[in-house]
Order: sequence, then structure tokens, then C-alpha cells
Amino acid sequence: MRTYTKYEFLDLLEDKLRKQRMTTVDDATDKDLFYAIAAIINDEVRQAGLETVKRYRQNKERQVSYLSLEFLIGRLIESNLVNTGFKAVCDEVLTDLGRSPRAVYHEEEDAALGNGGLGRLAACFLDSVASLGLAGNGFGIRYRYGLFEQHIAEGHQIELPDNWLKEPYPWETRRAEEAVTVNFGGSVDYITDDDGNYVFTVTNPQKVTAVPYDVSIVGYRNDVVNNLRLFKAEAADHLENATYNSRLDEMNAIDQISAVLYPDDNSEDGKLLRLKQQYFLVSATIQTLVKRFKQTFGVPLTQFHDKNVIQINDTHPTLGIPELMRVLMDEEGLDWDAAWHVTTQTFAYTNHTIMQEALEKWSYDLIRQLNPRVLMIIEEINRRFCEDKPTEDIEEIAIISDGLVHMSRLAIVGSFSVNGVAALHSEIIKNYTFNAFYRLTPDKFNNKTNGITHRRWLQNANPELSRLITERIGDTWVTHPEQLEQLMNYTDDVEFLEQLHAVKFSNKQRLKALIFEQTGITVDENSIFDVQIKRLHEYKRQLLNVFHMMYLYNTIKDNPAINMQPRTFIFGAKAAPGYKRAKEIIRLIHAVADTVNADPAVGSRMKVVFLENYNVSLAEDIIPAADISEQISTASMEASGTGNMKMMMNGAVTLGTMDGANVEIDERVGRDNIIIFGLSSDDVIGYQHNGGYNARDVYTNDDRVKRVMDQLIDDTFNHGKSFDDLYYHLLKDNDPYFVLEDFTAYVEAQERAAALYQDKKTWQRMSLVNIAQSGRFSSDRTIKEYNQDIWKLHNNQ
Ligand SMILES: *Cc1c(COP(=O)(O)O)cnc(C)c1O
Repeated sequence: MRTYTKYEFLDLLEDKLRKQRMTTVDDATDKDLFYAIAAIINDEVRQAGLETVKRYRQNKERQVSYLSLEFLIGRLIESNLVNTGFKAVCDEVLTDLGRSPRAVYHEEEDAALGNGGLGRLAACFLDSVASLGLAGNGFGIRYRYGLFEQHIAEGHQIELPDNWLKEPYPWETRRAEEAVTVNFGGSVDYITDDDGNYVFTVTNPQKVTAVPYDVSIVGYRNDVVNNLRLFKAEAADHLENATYNSRLDEMNAIDQISAVLYPDDNSEDGKLLRLKQQYFLVSATIQTLVKRFKQTFGVPLTQFHDKNVIQINDTHPTLGIPELMRVLMDEEGLDWDAAWHVTTQTFAYTNHTIMQEALEKWSYDLIRQLNPRVLMIIEEINRRFCEDKPTEDIEEIAIISDGLVHMSRLAIVGSFSVNGVAALHSEIIKNYTFNAFYRLTPDKFNNKTNGITHRRWLQNANPELSRLITERIGDTWVTHPEQLEQLMNYTDDVEFLEQLHAVKFSNKQRLKALIFEQTGITVDENSIFDVQIKRLHEYKRQLLNVFHMMYLYNTIKDNPAINMQPRTFIFGAKAAPGYKRAKEIIRLIHAVADTVNADPAVGSRMKVVFLENYNVSLAEDIIPAADISEQISTASMEASGTGNMKMMMNGAVTLGTMDGANVEIDERVGRDNIIIFGLSSDDVIGYQHNGGYNARDVYTNDDRVKRVMDQLIDDTFNHGKSFDDLYYHLLKDNDPYFVLEDFTAYVEAQERAAALYQDKKTWQRMSLVNIAQSGRFSSDRTIKEYNQDIWKLHNNQ
């Protein structure tokens, strides 16, 4: 990609403003500038994209297709500027014009086509695949409305539609000429061909057009531009319905398929429309890949898997397995064995959860309604798979049982690789969740610890820290993040530690201003910024954090003169709209915040802040300012976490349980540089299998626990409406997430954190070690491992 001087870039900008926005630099709004800059980027990127495709074609390259129902990409303008190399010159031109680059870039709507970690992972992966020069593309759905926008009214979460396409999205290109047709419903017929084989056809299906919208994925300064293809559902041009009104009805029904992202994370959502979205995505993708394969390679489809690998992000795209079987057999004439060989050499499955309520199961009847031929194929896969298996194992491994199709089982049987997303999680999968499958095919199972793109989460989100790092160790860390480890040479360099501290302090001042602007709360930038930002879920245990805040408040009220480390507790969290208990926890955070922040007896020792509408852009503002990273999930339940990695990379110290990737963070930084507490995953799994935990005993025997519990239902924190559900749930349902059991250990860990923070030198050193050891958690490392062990693509760099 070419480079520009300031003057050349300004010329281009003026030209785009004139021709595309009909304005001048003097009159341009921030929005005009945003669109003009996007146009400059697109001119370069689309050219490079064409050349990338041409190169892949000429080299007949094997490619990975990353299938995901979620891509939480956030704003693209800064990462596109960084990766094209235009960022510095663009910043400079805007600044010279007296404009704020930040204000201009923030004109972009956050593309929130995902819920949380799983969707953000897919976005980080695309960045790393392109930046490593690998031939890989994403496939997803272009939801008209992304994840809801969260507003808080008197402590209650209100959901508003996320109208992110209200204005044109500059990064997408509609490709109507590459649309494919997805069939829903209908009935299955068959004829017998000359060789006596059955040939299946579906009659009277509902035909839905899947129209691709392509978004360029720019590699970091390497001229590689890959693609994210997002499908939109549209009615076919000639709907065959009888009347105009029934045609309109059908058009509306079809629009619904890509209308909204289901706001659901870590729980199964049994909606028919969601299943339709899944089949819509996989059918459109598989048809596209088969078509491209035939056009590009000119060899029989029995070699499809030599040129294609499909990574499925959790079970949501699992129907791709029977769909590829269907296309290979019914449309391309392969027999079962040949099609099965190709399919099982093509698919690789990433598991993201072991929680039973999140493992997808769809009713047999629903899948028949969705597409009867696909159901037939699933039945046959199941029949053949179970045929030679011992009866005592069948209950644990049957793909279809009790009228339900177990998507994770279908995914395992149909894939050549099954991976978990952190070392601990991958062990739990092998030893518990999918143990029967592991015993059958141990070699399929592997681990790929998650990662995050350091280009977005460090280089771009924390420019001051990036500059400081580069001053010390040069800039090779940008392409080789493991080089951050060179920073270990400075752990006793007082000057460097002070500089690091100064950067954190200025990031905290910026966040302080944002907090004031959003909430009217004034926080102390000298206090600990104690941050828990992630989706609201009981297993993530925001409630444990709240109980500790209540306990601290009680301590201050009991000893008004007590001298303690000032703290600012910062939350960001969306709750799924139907998840009542999670919404009650949001209400509780606000109730505690209102009481604590308004109590003159507390003063500046403690503030509680909830920033509404947590999303990628807000995360980019908060993370550089975090001192403590709260990663306190019930051990065994957080598969990996990636928020932990983002905060570590920005110098926050993790306060967490031995869960998910925390275990590997602990391993990297050493126990002196992380604060670990609470039950282990073995403890938790032991309690779950053999009982032995009694929440009421903890409540009865621990005065501090009893006091905060009772405050859920008295009037200390509530303003008229108490938190009965939370209170009774913990006692009657025996606290399934072990909040009460871990309370004492958590309070003790928080006390250790405060003491360490007060020893400034020690804390600064801990912070530095975390940054220095974070290179391993770059998604570049993760993607290299996927490629070496699973994808085996040619390396273009
Ligand atoms: C990274 C990220 C997540 C995942 O956070 P966890 O703490 O790993 O659950 C969720 N949402 C957004 C917006 C993120 O950027």
C-alpha cells in the first residue's frame, strides 16, 4: 500500500470532501470527514483486496472459512488506518485543521454484530489472519439490528434497538451478483437412478435469497486484504404466493431472518428464528464455497477438503455439516462415503462453554420444519455413528436422543478437530463434558488458548503506552508481540516504572472525564480503578464484587474514621433482556452506587460507577485506565475470557479465580504478579458431583455474609423495592455459583490488592510484568497455532 505525505493526504481529503460530500474542509462536519477518510482508505484497500484474491486464485491456495453467527467488530476506522499505515498522517492532518481525530473517528457506529467474548474473538481472529498473511475469510450475518443499546433508568436496564445502519456503512460492498438461494421447509421426494441409487429432491421449499455484503479485512501493513462476507436475507424476485398481500407477508417473514442478533450469551435460546438464522448462514456459505471451488480448481469435489477448511465458532454453525453432505450428495452426485470423507476432513469445531444450559439442543421436529432433507441426513449420520458403539455409551454420545438433536455431538462427530479455548477448559472437555467422545477419538481433541489483537487493544487503544514501549524496546513488538517480554529488563528501572505510572495516570484522568460526562460522578484518579466489564451473568459473579462493595461500605459505616485505600469500582455490563436475575444484579449495582456515592461519611474513599451500553468502543476507553482486572468467575465456568488478556496487556493486575485463561496468565506472570483466590475448578466440580456445599451454613456462620445478605432485603440500599429474588435464590437454590462460599477468600484477596497498591513500587513492577508477559495472549499466537495444528495453510509472509 502506498504512503502519503501530509500534503498529499490533505489533497485527497479535500477531493473526497468535494466529490463525495459536496463540501470543503472549512465547512465539513465530523461526519463528512469520517466518510471522506473512509473513502480514501477504501480506494487503497479495495485495490489491494482485488490483488489478494487474484494471488490466492493463481496460487490455488487452500483457505480457511471462519463461520460465526457473531462478529463483534466495533469501529473499523482506526484499525484500518493503523493497518494501512495512514494513521499518523491522518491524525496530523486533522489536528492541523483544528479538528479532533477522536471526534471524527467516533462518528463511526460501533458494529455490534455479536454479544460478547465469542463474537469479539471472531473479530480479533480476522485481524490476525490477515496480518499474518493467511488466506482466510469470515462468514456471518448482516443483522439489520445488532446487539441492543442499553440505557439505564432508575437502575433498570432498558433495551433500545441498535439502528447501526441508519446511515450508510462505508466499509461494506453489496454483491448481488454473488447471491445464492437458501431453501427452507418443503417436502422430500426421491427417485431411483439407473444404478438403483436414491436421488433426493425437495419440493415446494420457501426460497430465500442470501445477498452478500463484503467487508474488507486489512492486514497490518502487508498488502493482504481478506474478506468478511455478511449475508442479508431477501425475498426472491418472483415470490410464488397467490395474492399481493400474501407476497407482502412472505417478504416480511423473510426480512426477519437477518433482522436481529439474538441478545443471548452463554445460554441456549430455543427460538425457531434463531435456528433459521443458523441454517441461512451455513447454507449460503457452503453453496458459495462449493461454487468457488468448482470455478477455481477444476478438480472433482472429492478434493474439496484439500482446498478448504471450515472452522465453526461454537455449535451455532453446526448445520453446515449436514448441509455440506446435502450439497455433495444431492447436488453434486457424490455417494455417502465420499461425501462423509470430504465433510469430516473439512470441519473443525471450537467449543466455547461447558455449561449445560448453553449447549445447544434443537427439537427434532423443529429441524424437520426447517429443512426435512437436512434432518434425514442428521438421522443417517447418527445411525451410522451409533451402529458399532457400546450400548452403555449411547446415551452420552447419541446425536439424537429424547427428540432432541445435540448440536455439540453432531459437531464433534462431523469434525476432524475439536478444540477448547484455554488449557483448563480443554482438559475439562476431555475429562468431563465430552469424555465419551474423547475416549473414542482422543486425537481430535486439542487446545487453542484464545487471544486478542494487540493492534487494537494496545497499539490503538493505548497510544501513550505503545509509544513508551517502543521508546524502550523498539517497534518489533508490533509484528512480534512476544517481544514485549524484553520489557522484563526494566522491572527495576525506576525511571521507566515512573513513566509507566504517568501513562496510567493520564489514562485514568481521561476516563475520569468520561465518567463525569456520562454519569455526573466525580471520581478520584488517585484511587484504585477496580474494573469489571463483561456481560452480566451469574457465573461471572458480578454479585460477588457487589457483596464486597457492600461489605466495604459497612466497614466504613462501622468505623467512620478508618483509613483505607480509596477505590473506584467501575462496571460495564449488558444483561440478556429475558434474563431477570442478571437485570436484578444491575439494579443492585445501581442501588449500592446511589447509597455509597451520596453518603458524606464515605467521602472519597469509595465510588461506584456503572457505565451504560458496554461495547467495544467503551472497552477501548476503559481498559487503558484499569488498575485491577476483575476475573472472578466460578472456577470451571469461564472457558477462557479475553477481557482478562486486554486488561493485562494494558498493565492492569488480575484479581481472579483459577479459571479459564487466568490459569495461563498466572503461569506467565508468576504468583507475585497476580492475585488469585477461591475455589479451584476441581473443588467446584467435586461439589457439583458429590454435594457437600451448603450455602445456608455459610450464611448462618459468617456474620459478614449474613449482614450483606440481609441488606438485600432491608432498606440499606434499596429505594422501595428490595432484592428478594437474589436473597431467596442464594439460599433456596443453594448458591449454584458459590458466591457465599468464595466471599471470605475474595475479601481477603481485595485486602491484599489494596496493600500491594499502596506499595507503589511493587504495584508498578507488577503492572510492568503483566504488560511484558502479555505477548502470548495476542491472537497472532493463537492463529499461528490454529494454522500449524488445524488449518495448515500456506504462509504468504
Ligand atoms: C473482550 C470483550 C468481551 C469479553 O469479555 P470477557 O471479560 O472475556 O467476558 C465482551 N464484550 C466486549 C465489548 C469486549 O470487548
